[in-house]
Order: sequence, then C-alpha cells, then structure tokens
Amino acid sequence: MERTLSIIKPDGVEKNVIGEVIKRFETNGIKIAAMKMIHLSKSQAQGFYAVHKERPFFDSLTDFMTSGPIVVMVLEGDDVIAKNRKLMGATNFKEAEEGTIRKEYATDIEKNVVHGSDAPETAAFEIGYFFNALELHAR
Ligand code: ADP
Ligand code: MG
Repeated sequence: MERTLSIIKPDGVEKNVIGEVIKRFETNGIKIAAMKMIHLSKSQAQGFYAVHKERPFFDSLTDFMTSGPIVVMVLEGDDVIAKNRKLMGATNFKEAEEGTIRKEYATDIEKNVVHGSDAPETAAFEIGYFFNALELHAR
C-alpha cells in the first residue's frame, strides 16, 4: 500500500471538474485518505514547489497556484504514485495521452489541472506539507 499527494489546481477548480477528477481516481480503485480545499499564500506555494525554485517558471507557477482555491488530497492504493501519474498524463497537455486528465481538461503547460507526487520521497514531503497524522485516514 502506497500514498501520494494529489492537487486539483486553481484552473481545475475554476473549470468545475473537481468531481470529474475524483471520479477517475475512484473508478480506478484509488481511495481518498484525506481531502481539503485551501487557498495558498505565495510563501506557502513557494515552500511546496521549493524543488523548482531555480526554474524560469517558478514565479509564474507560484502566482498561478495562489490565484484561487485548490483541492488537496492524499490518495491511497497499490502503486498509487505511478497510477496517479498515468491518470494525470504528461506535464504538457499537448503530449499527454488520450483519455488522461490533462489531455481532457488542460489548456496550458502551466495550467494543467492536477499535481501528483513523482516518487515516494516527494510524496512523504508533500503529504506532510498539508496534512497531519490526525487528518489521514487508513482506507
Ligand atoms: P509535473 O507537475 O508533471 O510533475 P513538473 O514537476 O516538471 O511537472 O513541473 C511542476 C509544474 O510546473 C507543472 O505541473 C506545471 O504547472 C509547471 N510547469 C512545468 N514546466 C513548465 C514550463 N515549461 N512552463 C510553465 N510552467 C511549467
Ligand atoms: Mg512534479
């Protein structure tokens, strides 16, 4: 059993596809172990994306992530890190496979609807960034 952090980004909330995204997780056997809607401050977004702080898109990305509320979830299941990444599709929606969340709903390389942890170490950091032990439910 594995856990990963998923975020429905401000553009996904704005496009009203929260339910569509969650439905894909549930129909693919993924359980939701924690969930909340929050609005990040600039410094909270910078802390979350600290690994990207040297990238040219860091300032724009952290502005975008603070532009509206987001839905933050912990997903649980076998191989859920890779499974979620597959359901999300490639970072650039133009390169994403048919039927993936980003292919279906993203309009921009930055505004790409969802975030998903990419490895066990990043999942542990990202889950701890948003949730404490009392907020995590074994499914
Ligand atoms: P992923 O979200 O697929 O793991 P990355 O970790 O590489 O992708 O990048 C984090 C986020 O930064 C992306 O989801 C996207 O919102 C944004 N991003 C990535 N590359 C670019 C880019 N070249 N231009 C603008 N934004 C980008
Ligand atoms: Mg990433």
